[in-house]
Amino acid sequence: MKVWLDGQLVDKADAKLSMFDHGTLYGDGVFEGIRVYGGKIFECQAHMDRLFASASKIRLTIPYTQEQIVAAMAQTLVANGMADGYIRLVVTRGVGTLGLNPNRCPRGSVFVIAGQIELYPREMYERGMPVIIAKTRRTSPAMLDPSVKSLNYLNNIMAKIEATDAGVGEAIMLNDRGEVSEATGDNIFIVKDGAVLTPPVSAGILQGITRRVVMELCAAAAIPCREQTMTPADLFAADECFLTGTAAEVIPVTKIDHRDIAAGTVGPISQRLITAFHEFIRL
Ligand code: PMP
Repeated sequence: MKVWLDGQLVDKADAKLSMFDHGTLYGDGVFEGIRVYGGKIFECQAHMDRLFASASKIRLTIPYTQEQIVAAMAQTLVANGMADGYIRLVVTRGVGTLGLNPNRCPRGSVFVIAGQIELYPREMYERGMPVIIAKTRRTSPAMLDPSVKSLNYLNNIMAKIEATDAGVGEAIMLNDRGEVSEATGDNIFIVKDGAVLTPPVSAGILQGITRRVVMELCAAAAIPCREQTMTPADLFAADECFLTGTAAEVIPVTKIDHRDIAAGTVGPISQRLITAFHEFIRL
């Protein structure tokens, strides 16, 4: 495997970052997870925009232009002969001193890994996935803007640990007001009385690119879809539930905290959107 690191393709074994990089020392950096379908970088511009917005929000200067980063991704795909897979694009603050001060890091580092990702077993896409509601609350926007896709995922990891302890693959996180925000690495949707609902950005979520695509697919299929604040009670009373994310795509949720959602089977609107999503990525 070849990895792109600061302008060069290097072997995986030689792809090394300094331990003095503030990405390593403090999780100081931003990243994107991006899909490649049929040789095409899915929603490339949206990922570039989010990466540069995340970097700007943490006052990190990316030492390349968007065009250069897209070229780096293309080069990495070619070097690995990859037409379908997953790109991990990371920008760290770069090498600095041992203190927190980011101004001591003169230049950020960028790397691109082209690999594969499979988050959940195939059968869960057909039969649905059980999840829990985590006790760990999502970082509030007053602490760190959740729209920054930062390298510091400990908040989400603590909730993920709760999920694995409970024997399930994902956890839903609430915000500090007790409202539903998102899953540890995915956005959440419910279906109620024929309408598709998802928590608003103000619930403290990462603005998922898959979330936006699914909202557009709803519009195209004339399925009512809107942002709505929701509580755990709304989740338990939902007709259907599903999660969206770059790696997960669209995955149905049929159990929350050991309770069946409606009949505990994959609902018709989830099924329609899963099919529509598969058609869309093949375009
Ligand atoms: N929320 C969080 C916390 C995430 O890390 C992700 C990405 N894995 C998402 C939502 C989904 O975003 P996207 O659809 O852009 O992958």
